[in-house]
Amino acid sequence: MATTEHPESSKLDHALELVGVKYQYQKSSELALSINKLDVAPQEQVVITGRSGCGKSTLLHLIAGLMDPTEGSISVAGSPMSSMSGSKRDQFRGRHIGMVFQTFHLLNGFTVLENVLAALMFSDFPRSEHRSRAKQLIERLGINTPSARIQDLSVGQQQRVAVARAIACSPKIVLADEPTAALDPEFTNVAMDLLQDACRSIGASLVCVTHDLSIVERFDRHVSMQVPQTQEHA
Ligand code: ADP
Ligand code: MG
Repeated sequence: MATTEHPESSKLDHALELVGVKYQYQKSSELALSINKLDVAPQEQVVITGRSGCGKSTLLHLIAGLMDPTEGSISVAGSPMSSMSGSKRDQFRGRHIGMVFQTFHLLNGFTVLENVLAALMFSDFPRSEHRSRAKQLIERLGINTPSARIQDLSVGQQQRVAVARAIACSPKIVLADEPTAALDPEFTNVAMDLLQDACRSIGASLVCVTHDLSIVERFDRHVSMQVPQTQEHA
């Protein structure tokens, strides 16, 4: 993987630090991912591109602590995820990491408001403030139907809810996996503005993985990800 150090990264604490990370799925004989180094500074917006199968989604799952690397270390906001137990890790993820998925993974059958409230359950904000905060966020992201059920929304509206949910807890870092893949091309710019402005508004870093090269120039930094060599050749 080609990596470029953020010019100020030595002066700043990192939102993300990843060193010597390899990952191999249990039943696979090949590495799904191999990255020597990747640092992301606070508030920095990084886009990672690479062809299908190079490990982009695997990388985000590892950063989110949903899986442990086979080798190497990953720290988010100075905390090594691998040292945390399951429940501590879930809590840490809920508070400090926001996620936007290609197909959004919202809670169908629940309303917009309920989806954002669910994310706030992990936050440090007092419970008494959750409802007002969720409503404010929903309004700020241009959704005027907080009581609508997810399945009744357009794809564009669902994207807005996904962004609202991702930033609800004021995370240190937002991870986005192909956030524009489900959208018609004419909505790409609006959706990316929404996501990037939302991250700026809460001072979060953004790591976006995509195969959509049209969005690359919107970012502070572009990293190209290569298909890892198989273990036998590594
Ligand atoms: P990308 O998101 O860049 O398309 P992925 O991270 O999904 O790539 O996949 C990286 C590699 O890992 C691919 O070779 C893929 O086939 C493999 N892979 C992904 N998920 C699994 C899984 N659950 N089990 C085994 N192999 C997997
Ligand atoms: Mg993927």
